Parts: sequence; structure tokens; C-alpha cells
Amino acid sequence: MLRARTLLYRFRSWLHRRDVNVWYDPRYRLPLSGLQVGAGIEPRRADFAIWWLRETGAVTASAVHAPRRITYDDLARVHTPELLESLGRPEAIAHIFAVDPSDVPVDEVMTTIRLACGATLAAARDTLRTKRPALNLLGGFHHAAPGAAGGFCPVNDVAVAVAALRNEGFSGRVAVLDLDAHPPDGIAACLARDPKRWVGSLSGSDWGPLEDVDETVLPEGTGDGEYLDALAALLGRMPRPQLAFVLAGGDVLAGDRFGKLGVTLEGARERDLLVATELEGVPAVWLPAGGYSDRSWRVLAGTGMALAAGSAELIPPDYDPLDARFRVLSRELSPVELSDTGELTADDLEEALGMRPQRQRLLLGFYTASGMEHALYRFGIFEQLERMGYRQFRATFDSSGLGERVRVYGEAEAQEHLLVELVLERRRVLGVEVLYVHWLSLRNPRAQFSERRPRLPGQEVPGLGLAREAGTMLARMAVRLGLGGVAFRPAHYHTAYAARHEFAFVDPERQGRFEALVRDLAHVPLLEATIAIAEGRVRMDGAPYTWEADEMAYWLRESPADAGEVERERERVRFTLVEPSPAPMSGS
Ligand SMILES: [Zn+2]
Repeated sequence: MLRARTLLYRFRSWLHRRDVNVWYDPRYRLPLSGLQVGAGIEPRRADFAIWWLRETGAVTASAVHAPRRITYDDLARVHTPELLESLGRPEAIAHIFAVDPSDVPVDEVMTTIRLACGATLAAARDTLRTKRPALNLLGGFHHAAPGAAGGFCPVNDVAVAVAALRNEGFSGRVAVLDLDAHPPDGIAACLARDPKRWVGSLSGSDWGPLEDVDETVLPEGTGDGEYLDALAALLGRMPRPQLAFVLAGGDVLAGDRFGKLGVTLEGARERDLLVATELEGVPAVWLPAGGYSDRSWRVLAGTGMALAAGSAELIPPDYDPLDARFRVLSRELSPVELSDTGELTADDLEEALGMRPQRQRLLLGFYTASGMEHALYRFGIFEQLERMGYRQFRATFDSSGLGERVRVYGEAEAQEHLLVELVLERRRVLGVEVLYVHWLSLRNPRAQFSERRPRLPGQEVPGLGLAREAGTMLARMAVRLGLGGVAFRPAHYHTAYAARHEFAFVDPERQGRFEALVRDLAHVPLLEATIAIAEGRVRMDGAPYTWEADEMAYWLRESPADAGEVERERERVRFTLVEPSPAPMSGS
């Protein structure tokens, strides 16, 4: 049944290859360092999706549009002054995104949100004019009501766009097809007085009836077949609109922290193809809405593939978007920009003869400090740090007892802070010379620990949320130095967890036990899992389990590990979590 549908769409897509316009800005990444560890949100979702769509040629450079921030005039058509005023305070934003207020650079967060809203409006105007589908890579903030934000939605971009278009004289019927895993409570509230709107919703959470919404609530673990049948029925009831907003939620995916529908990547793509076919010829704005798993970017990129190419082909499971991106950036950096590998000069000779002091220290015999700063800039690290409130970056090198030490400092509030500390060495692992990382600390000293941001084992200050960039950048350095990989010992579960996309334990049995641990603790937030392991509250096959800080490696050539051994151990062991013993009764 599904296969027949897929073939049909593929065939149709050859007849109707569409041009899709895409809205994207690198500032779509929320500058909240605690977002991923807290809510499980992948802050790089839009980046990963646009890189994929551009790299595959599904979307051309001229089809990608940079948004402008929505004006407060436009926001005020929908939202109360009290709500808009509250968004100037870190506490209010922190509440919406479930992070600590100390982690909220208000202006930068509002820039992200206002860019997304501006894009939803621009996309709506564009699709009305061109009749081409428009995809905005951030938006679908469907929980925001006129006077109340909530659930990762500070304001309601869809309602704001509808209000602006009405103000410009657009009087056609608007359909909002909400396919996020949660009901469109904010959209229903914002559009309640619009006589020419239809709102349809297919979700997996029953929050009580919403007025004037065609709602279908599916049970937990629904799966593809039933989900797509319910969607087809909903589409059958949708009146043909003059403008559609499609909230192609990424949280329908199996394994999502908050969505429980259990749809596969194939099913999510099938969904988008079905809707795109139904909306052929109707101006439509597509939005990602929610998504709380590290695979949610694949749903969003998939929406782009469905719209642009009518393609049902999945993104290869082992494709790593950050690695692919950094490879390209790394190729663009010439050795001369990073190091001191020019011709031998008179200065060099004088230095070698001891006639003048050494000019500078080279990291691992290659990088200059300014070369390192340049690389950090080109890989986008400084931009992320700037959005978190740091300026005036400076890299230094020296040696520690274990190896060569790199430190990166940045200024905030007229004070210099240590942001990155790294100790590196060339060393052999399994006979291969690798870049060995003795110590890596990513520090956000402006952020504070709190109930929302508990201290992770081993942390002195909260992290930067840039561990994945750090690992990928180290791999690019290893390539540059002609080494076979990168290795380190994860002192804690969360460190290994953050590295798991690129790194694997060198010992295949150890890797098998780690994969079993990730599998068996998938139902608890990372924070809880790492604390439980550190406190000895995890059991392996019934016996207390102590974290094994063995070497992990990112092999740049072939992996020496035997996949069979990994799998055998993974299937052999089972981990269980012991609840913390209840706190003693207090008098109050
Ligand atoms: Zn949702």
C-alpha cells in the first residue's frame, strides 16, 4: 500500500518538478548553550537541512532567501503589549525554552525568533505571488496565543503572517494544516476571529477540544500506516484554500522526546509527498514546527526534498552534516593561513642560529595562534560565542605536563574569560598515530547552574553546547597534520554521548556496552542519565555498573573495530536504572 503510493508520487514528481523557495539564516540557531542538554533540541537543525539541500543541488543558491526581522508593528497585530514587553526579559525567555535565565542573551534570541517570523511572512507573500511552495527552515510556533507564550513558542509566526496579509487586503481562505505531534492551541486562539480560516490538526496528544479545529488525536505509537490513513482523511475534509500553512512537525518521528506518534523517516516523507500533491497549485508555506530528537533535521531536509524534487529517497543514515560541512570549509583554508610554512627567510636563519629570540610557538609544529583564531572564525565558532555575549577572542599556546595546551579567551562585561581549554598530543593508538586529546573543556562562565541547568559530573561551569563542533574540528586538524584519527578518554557518560556521532570506543566490546547503555537509557533525559551513572544508580544485568572511561577514537581512515563484536556485546547486556532513594521526610 505504502509502496504503491510512493511509486505514484515518484512518477508524478517527474511530471511536476517544483521550484521551491527557501528561507534561512545562520542566526536561526538559538544561542542557548543549555538547549540541547535540557530539552533535547538540536539547535543546528536548520543549518543541517540547508547544507543538505544545497549540497545535493535540490535547492539552488538563488532560491535561498535571507529573512528580515519582523517589526513590532506586525507582532502587535496579534500579540498583547504585555506579552511583547515580557519578551525583553531573560526570565520570560528562559521559561519558554526551559533553560536558565543566565543562559539567555535576550537580543540574540529575539533576533532568531523575529527572523523566523519575518521569513514566514515573506514566504507567504512570495508564494501568493509565484504560486511556488515556500519553505521556511524555522517557524511554526503554534503554541503562542495572543497573550501567552509557551512550549518553545514566544510568538506565533503563522498568526502574525495571516494578520499582516489581512492588513494588506488579502481576503482569501487560509488553511493551517498542523502536522506537528502536538495540538495547535495557540493558532486556534490567535485565529479565532478570522472568518475565512480552516485549521486542521493531526496530533498524538489530547489536550482537550479546541474550538473550530478539525482535530484528530492518534494514540501513542500509532506508526506510519494508521498515521497516513488519518492524514488522507483529514486532507479529504480540507476545503481548498487560497493560501495554506503546513506545519510539517519533526516531532512525529519515533524516538522523539515529546512526540509519541512513532512515525518513521519514510513515513514522514510520505506525509510530505501526500500533502504536497494535495496542495499542487495552492500557494503554501511549509514550516518545521517541533522536533526533539537529533534526527529531526532529517525530517526537515526531507520536507525540502519532497517539495523540490518529489523525492522519497532517504538521506543516508551515516551521513554526518557537520563533518561534511567542515570538510568543505577545511579545504578552503590554505596551510599558509594556518601556519608558518612559508619560505625560509633571513629571520628564520637568525632564529635558528640563536641570534634572535624565537618569534612564536607552533601548536603541534604547525598552527600559529593567529592561524588557530582564523580557523575558529571560519568554522563559525566565534560567531556562536559572540551570540552568547563574548567578544575579542584570543588563542594562546603553551605546554602542560601531558602535552601542548591551547586556550581560547573571550571578553564579556569588560572581563576576559577562559572559554576553551584543550591539551593535545601526537600519540599512537592501536599502532596508528592520532591526535590525542588529554583534556577538552568548553566553558560558558556567564551561565550559571540551577535547577534547570544542573551541574554535570566534572563540570566547573556550564558548557558551551559546542562539543560536536569541537570534535569535528579536531578531526579536521588531524587530517591537516596527516594523522589517522582523534582519540580521547570520556570521563563521563555525557561526554561519550556528545561524541557518539563521530567517535567509538576503541575496544569493540566496550563500544557494544556503550551502545546498549544509550539504548536502555533512551527514555530518560541525558542529564538524568549521566547523573544516575555517576551516582552508581545504573545496573548492568542486575549488578552495579561503574563507568568505564576507556579510549574512544574517531578513525579518519578505516575503523579497526569489528562490527560483529560490537553487536554481540550490545545484544548481550541490559542496563536498568535505579530510582534515587526518596529524600527523608522533612518536618514541613
Ligand atoms: Zn510539537
